[in-house]
Amino acid sequence: MAMKQFKAESKRLLDLMINSIYTHHEIFLRELISNASDAIDKLYYRTLKDGDTGLNRSDFSISIEPNKEARTLVIRDNGCGMTKDELENNLGVIAKSGSLSFKSEQEKSDDIDIIGQFGVGFYASFMVSDKVVVESRAFGSDEAWRWTSSGAEGYTVDPCNKPDHGTTITLHLKPDTDDEKFSDFLEEFRLRSLIKKYSDYIRYPIRMEVEKH
Ligand code: ADP
Ligand code: MG
Repeated sequence: MAMKQFKAESKRLLDLMINSIYTHHEIFLRELISNASDAIDKLYYRTLKDGDTGLNRSDFSISIEPNKEARTLVIRDNGCGMTKDELENNLGVIAKSGSLSFKSEQEKSDDIDIIGQFGVGFYASFMVSDKVVVESRAFGSDEAWRWTSSGAEGYTVDPCNKPDHGTTITLHLKPDTDDEKFSDFLEEFRLRSLIKKYSDYIRYPIRMEVEKH
């Protein structure tokens, strides 16, 4: 598909994220895990309400997969997923709902970091990535779609293969600089401590896929 432009307000926030006014880059992981958890909630509630999904609570999980060779970090969930329209509407526009709003008490870290209390949302990915790929398949759909963006220039949406429902986000990490080693986000120890610091309250298992060599 041809490159599409982000909506104006999304573009402004994206510019802020990329040229970050905001130094706490590490919170991108909290945002992506929180989205994964929300997506699982949606499907789990549907499971409870209608009982027609054929899923159990224990089927749900989030996985974090660092790959040093590819310099990618994958965040995968088996939640509700997104249709093509949802990918465009949810990721091409700044979410009307939660973004830039205060998070609940329980999500606060111990740090006295006011900005850190805001949910900055999916676009936080661009603080650490020069390319973000979102592959998603809505529950009950037999189509999967890939949303790709390298930042403020816009995004594309194309069909892809994805055998299971849910969403897989691949972050292509920025090159390291003198100021910041983005490759630290591929270190198991660093990832574990970030999960502990920001995502301890998540009610689904967060699994770390250790790299196979
Ligand atoms: P918020 O979570 O505050 O709504 P975000 O910017 O974090 O804002 O996410 C925007 C929207 O994109 C979400 O509301 C959701 O609809 C969709 N989304 C993001 N990540 C996922 C995911 N892993 N699975 C399904 N939908 C997602
Ligand atoms: Mg969010």
